[in-house]
Amino acid sequence: MQLLSEFFDFFLPRICPSCKNKLELNERSVCSACLDKILPADPTRIRFEYQKKFLTKGIISGFTSLYVFEKDKELQKIIHAMKYENNFRIGETLGKLLGDKLRNEFSNQNPDLILPVPLHHLKKSERGYNQSFYIAKGVNRKLNLAIDERSVKRIKYTETQTSMNIHEREKNIARAFRVKSTNNISGKHILIIDDVITTGATVSECGSVLLENGAAKVYAASLAIAD
Ligand SMILES: [Zn+2]
Repeated sequence: MQLLSEFFDFFLPRICPSCKNKLELNERSVCSACLDKILPADPTRIRFEYQKKFLTKGIISGFTSLYVFEKDKELQKIIHAMKYENNFRIGETLGKLLGDKLRNEFSNQNPDLILPVPLHHLKKSERGYNQSFYIAKGVNRKLNLAIDERSVKRIKYTETQTSMNIHEREKNIARAFRVKSTNNISGKHILIIDDVITTGATVSECGSVLLENGAAKVYAASLAIAD
């Protein structure tokens, strides 16, 4: 295995998406120097963001995130590579770190299954993959649950929400999801996985559709939180 990795590294060097340096054999997707520079989301920040984004709506019962998104910093390049440069393995690598965090912080919540935020099928075929699915895969290496990619469908093609405020985002995402089958979600505690949570509108909309269709509780986790 070691020899094989060395062989591939020699001919196809793996590059850190942030600093563009060659990755060491033991580094996965992102170099350790860049990983160390990313601002972690500490418990105070998580509590503050939960109150700001989710508390009054009463949809998301618990929430955590791994990092704080900062413009023009390491994480922005890493997330860009994960979403737009085919580097979906980053999702799995960081997803594992999120899984460790969830195992420590969510030990009382016990979700039954993991639901990556679905992409519209057109967006998925443009991109080739759903990055949230890869994050969920990484999370699941630590939690060992089922990943549900089928029960919820994204039926509305939404434009990128980057420049929208909270009200525009809520309008944009309204009725974007539909439950295809309630078999898997009825009575269940569901953990929604997203890449970046900004206003929380997407995760809340997805969560409300799950609750309307019989889910018992909905939680959310993301790689990053952004303002
Ligand atoms: Zn780097």
